[in-house]
Amino acid sequence: MLNNKISKKFILAVMMLFIIAANGAFAAEVILTAPGRVEVGKPFTVMVSVEDPPEGGVLFWRETKVPLDFRKEADRYVALAMLGTEADEAGGASFSLEAEITARGQKRELSREVMLVTVEYPEQHLSLSENMVTPPKDVLDRINREAAMVKEALAGSSPERMWEVPFHPPLKGAVTSPYGTKRTMNKTAKGFHKGVDLRAVLGTPVAAPSRGVVALADDLYFAGKCVYIDHGNGVFSVMMHLSEISVKAGDKVEPGDLVGKTGQTGRVTGPHLHFGVRVQGKWVNPLPLFEGGLS
Ligand SMILES: [Zn+2]
Repeated sequence: MLNNKISKKFILAVMMLFIIAANGAFAAEVILTAPGRVEVGKPFTVMVSVEDPPEGGVLFWRETKVPLDFRKEADRYVALAMLGTEADEAGGASFSLEAEITARGQKRELSREVMLVTVEYPEQHLSLSENMVTPPKDVLDRINREAAMVKEALAGSSPERMWEVPFHPPLKGAVTSPYGTKRTMNKTAKGFHKGVDLRAVLGTPVAAPSRGVVALADDLYFAGKCVYIDHGNGVFSVMMHLSEISVKAGDKVEPGDLVGKTGQTGRVTGPHLHFGVRVQGKWVNPLPLFEGGLS
């Protein structure tokens, strides 16, 4: 009886080994394409291509983990992912990018080294009315409540990649304040500029930069009337200081769809559009995502 059990187990083990070995001989071919060098603050894309339908895939870079959303393209399965860093992060080091792909029941691991190159962002000193820099106590509750709302809206991105590059321009206008500028407001350090400011006369139509779902559309103390869009797979965009909002949370948008009109609501010194892009929790320079600039 005991011998019988052992021999059955033994036969099963041999069969399993044979199946694994057979699979190994035909392991799915996986290609990982990533830039060797990226600048601090600049977004970049990574491509994973598999010859068989993948059962799953994840990308790891520094503290970021991105689920891969594969699409069939010609005779392969391709996933694009966007990654990035923030202007105040340190460069000058190499970080390994790792992809874990499961195909034909087997896990494949690939890695590439990505060098993070230092960028010197400019400094800017601003003078604003004191209650905008250090808000009065009675609006602190509102500010904290709104910060929690934004945090929640940005917490969950759809795993499906809805974004495409290049982005559609939200409007055509000169950059009046670039991304990454280290800001001092009334001599107090206030971090770096987390997007670009675009020149626009009051009431200029603002378009969705890519396909997505509106994550938040509201009137906030600092941002004024603003629209946050979830473009999926960890990518968000934001348009601030609008005079009018044309969408509501949950609305689906296509690139070029009207989301509102420019204004000067919130913490501003004049009418303009603040446009920001957040990638895997990092506010990146939006400009590289547009073909031929924004002006
Ligand atoms: Zn701005």
